[in-house]
Amino acid sequence: MITVKNLYHHFELGKKGNKTTLSVLQDISFQVKEKEIVAIKGRSGSGKSTLLHLISGFIRPVHGEIWIDGTKVTNLNETDFAAFRLQHVGFIFQNFQLIPSMTAYQNVELPLILGGMALENRKKIVEDTLRKVGLENHGEHYPSELSGGQQQRVSIARALVLNPPLILADEPTGSLDSETEENLLELIQQLNEEMGITFLIITHDEQVARIGNRTIEIADGALVEGGVTHEI
Ligand code: ATP
Ligand code: MG
Repeated sequence: MITVKNLYHHFELGKKGNKTTLSVLQDISFQVKEKEIVAIKGRSGSGKSTLLHLISGFIRPVHGEIWIDGTKVTNLNETDFAAFRLQHVGFIFQNFQLIPSMTAYQNVELPLILGGMALENRKKIVEDTLRKVGLENHGEHYPSELSGGQQQRVSIARALVLNPPLILADEPTGSLDSETEENLLELIQQLNEEMGITFLIITHDEQVARIGNRTIEIADGALVEGGVTHEI
């Protein structure tokens, strides 16, 4: 599902004439197979979010190749990458990133509108997706009228709505209490089993690593591939 080959990334810091380079990732290579749940671990600042942003195309690598679902995405231009991302990759953030002025329903509908789907086709898909995450009765709520766990479910529904084969998650349970987290992990596992969605999840959390098939660790910008948690 994902192949990362010899990936390097650095950031340029400072102003003109006084620039420094911060090397973040060096020679990262790994694969994620279809239907796997893979957890990424590593200390704060080790480059985990940077890696996810590279895979999703929000930033471009200094060097290296990324393949998703058979497409060499590092060769795509911005427009083609944006179109590819919409169809292939869902994204879940630690702080949900919902649009506060839109209801849960409208937040979930947004990728369908961006994908150009006609109004008459959208309603059933949004309702079905809200049902999948257990929020069929909360469509008219604004984010401020939902609990943290419910907001994260809306963001999962938004990531799911275009039926992507891959979901990338950056500390999806980071701001939730442990019971809410447990429910959310069950939902992720269920989506993985029932819909065959591949998950790549950044986490500080052993609970999340536990549902994964494998753990990958980043230390000092390099990859330490961990053992198999449990085989699929
Ligand atoms: P955390 O667990 O705290 O979220 P992380 O592993 O996700 O950390 P990253 O956000 O990937 O870490 O950051 C890796 C390094 O790159 C950090 O030193 C950070 O300061 C730096 N960095 C991240 N984004 C940028 C940017 N846009 N410009 C410059 N430096 C950046
Ligand atoms: Mg991060």
